Order: sequence, then C-alpha cells, then structure tokens
Amino acid sequence: MNLILMGLPGAGKGTQAEKIVEKYNIPHISTGDMFRLAIKEGTELGKEAKSYMDEGELVPDEVTIGIVRERLSKPDCEKGFLLDGFPRTIAQAKALEDLLSDMDETLDYVLHIDVPTDQLVERLTGRRVCPTCGATYHVLYNPPKVEGKCDKDGTALIQREDDQPQTVRKRLDVNMEQTQPMLDLYKDKGYLVTIQGNQDINKVFEDIDEKLGGLTK
Ligand SMILES: [Zn+2]
Repeated sequence: MNLILMGLPGAGKGTQAEKIVEKYNIPHISTGDMFRLAIKEGTELGKEAKSYMDEGELVPDEVTIGIVRERLSKPDCEKGFLLDGFPRTIAQAKALEDLLSDMDETLDYVLHIDVPTDQLVERLTGRRVCPTCGATYHVLYNPPKVEGKCDKDGTALIQREDDQPQTVRKRLDVNMEQTQPMLDLYKDKGYLVTIQGNQDINKVFEDIDEKLGGLTK
C-alpha cells in the first residue's frame, strides 16, 4: 500500500503514522529520516544533499527525488510505504508521480488528517519541553506529575519560542499555504482521503483503518 500522510503540525501525524506502520507493515518514511539515512550510507546523492545542508541551503528537488527513489527501492518498501513530509511542493508531487510510474507503482491514498486551526493552536502552544533530557509534555494531554517539572529529572520545563501562540499561528498559516495546492491536486486525482483529526487518537486511527481496510497489496 503506497500512502502519503499529510496534515499540519499538531494534527497528530506522528502518532497515526506509528499505528499505520504497525498494522500495515510498511515503513514510515519521513523526509528527515530519508536524508539522514542517505548521508549515513554515504550515497552520492546523500553526499550531495549534505553539501547543500552544510551550506544552509535548500536541497534541490532533483537531489531530493533521487533520494526518495533510493529509499523507495529498498526491500522494506516491497509492500508499500508511508511517505511523510514529502512531497512538499507541486513540482515534487509531479516528480513523485513520474518516479512511481517508472517503478510500475502508483499511489493508493493521500491521507489528510484535518484539524481546525484553533484546536491546533491549543495543542501546539501546550507543549512543554525539558531542557535537560528533551522529554516533551503537554499541559492538557500529557502533563508532568508535578506541574512545570520534568518527571525524569525534575528540571523546570520550558515553552519553546516555537510554541508561543503568535509563532504557532504564523507557522500554521505558512504551512497551510504550502499544503493547500497539494491537497487540491490530490483531490483532483482522486487520491485524497480526509480524516477528521479532532477526535480521540484511537478513533482517528479507526477512521484511517476503515478507509484502508480491504486494500492489501
Ligand atoms: Zn527531563
């Protein structure tokens, strides 16, 4: 099963990805992991990507798509894949389509986990991080045992600047602007499945599972 997972920050993509991967036995392929692997393995494309990243530059699409190709050609993708964070642009979406067609493959679904912006803001501004061990908490969904302190080491938790309301809203707006054209594209092509993400985590997965159910490859 060949899937793309889409959703704004805070929509719960990571959690759902874990559940999908476990149930459908396909690898979760995030852009970051893909680059890290290519760099670690020292492939030509990995080296090229690293040279851009070291300069703080964006990795060009042709390098990125090459890395996607390398990754999707690995044996663990035989049953399919769950792409997360790629494609990010229409150009990348088109390149992916060509790549899959080269591999005699096609997308099955593009899962969009949809959560209203106000709820995303609530989720994203509630995050607290331990500066010592990196543990993350959430004031509503995953509070520490003692308010404001890390469970593991007692360090005072902080709210990262990234998690302040005005920063969060801006990030969501920018993200939505980037994401919308792809949602439109995949809707036109008939791949888009919208999942209501503003419900219990397990219910979200039930909805996903119901959409994917019966489709085995
Ligand atoms: Zn800690």
